[in-house]
Amino acid sequence: MNIRANPDTVQKLELLSDANHYEAAGDQPETESRRGNYHPCVSEVSTPTGKKAILKAMMTTACEKNCFYCPFRAGRSRTQRITFQPEEMARTFDQMQRSGVADGIFLSSGIIKGGITTQDKIIDTAEIIRRKYRYQGYVHLKIMPGSEYDQVQRAMQLADRVSINLEGPTQERLNALAPKKDFTGDLLQRLQWTQQIRQEHEERTGRRLRSSTTTQFVVGAVGDTDLELLALSHRLYQQVGIKRAYYSAFEPVLDTPFENVNSVVKLREHRLYQSSFLLRDYQWDVEDLPFAVNGNLPLDIDPKRAWADLHLRDTPIDIMHAAPQDLLRIPGIGPHAAEAIVRARRETRLTDLSQLRALGIHAPEQAVPYILLDGRQPPRQLSFLDSE
Ligand code: SF4
Repeated sequence: MNIRANPDTVQKLELLSDANHYEAAGDQPETESRRGNYHPCVSEVSTPTGKKAILKAMMTTACEKNCFYCPFRAGRSRTQRITFQPEEMARTFDQMQRSGVADGIFLSSGIIKGGITTQDKIIDTAEIIRRKYRYQGYVHLKIMPGSEYDQVQRAMQLADRVSINLEGPTQERLNALAPKKDFTGDLLQRLQWTQQIRQEHEERTGRRLRSSTTTQFVVGAVGDTDLELLALSHRLYQQVGIKRAYYSAFEPVLDTPFENVNSVVKLREHRLYQSSFLLRDYQWDVEDLPFAVNGNLPLDIDPKRAWADLHLRDTPIDIMHAAPQDLLRIPGIGPHAAEAIVRARRETRLTDLSQLRALGIHAPEQAVPYILLDGRQPPRQLSFLDSE
């Protein structure tokens, strides 16, 4: 590693490294990993333009809010408080970027002197990065609770992505997680603004605004259910045009009010992502998801397969004639595979699993119990699916 930044600044940045794993910066939070050979604040992140080494940084680890789950909450004595000025942060990133250590930045912050002042510092940093250092690559900025419309707009002009973390799916859940945050006024409204800003930009210029929006939920600390989380995610996909909802399985942090609350299994996070993609990319409704009476998804089965077991075992889908949205109901078949099937069946009869494999469907065996090929159910092969 060859970073020419002031050693004090590099050291300060290293102290931020624990902050790294609390926030998702890109499209695949499950695979976001620190780059072991590089700086501890740099993670390998999937961005819209490919995998990149992203500097995940905070303007300050001091905070006047007291979110119950958060290591940076006000009054937590174990947290070392570090603050960067915009020029300092921008210069450090520039040097890391020029040294090949980082190619992108995710910038967040604790809140000091309110959301507006804090947002200004984030925006000032991004302005310097873009204007003074002429960086054109990936910038992801956090939007602070209570920030102003003009600030959200400027952040979206500067960034490839902005995120506004709702944390809980309702005001009641948020009160239990973060009593100083207003669900509708501080957070949801800003998510809605991002959609409004995108639409206004498009009407004014005829071009799409590059910046996309994401949100994040803390899962399972305060009795929130998968139904609550996914119903809200669905509304946000449809009405606010968010690119992605992130689900962060709760892990207790020592010396916080939630230090004795049980951690949440990662599998729950995984089932939420699977379901969220069904809502976002597969035209599913929330009612299609296999919630148990307690409002949670079963952990032991993929939600798509649970639905198919219930609905397709007795009435399998005919691959040659099914509508594209019905093909998306079949386990093992995603949007690309459904498109490939529709294209291929215009030219030829699909009668064999090997043809599905040739279309890029990696494990057509998964689909066997739920489909008809050439009017018949394909021969069943013994697989791990059958042995469950
Ligand atoms: S506002 Fe953010 S940094 Fe501050 S305590 Fe809440 S989650 Fe932590």
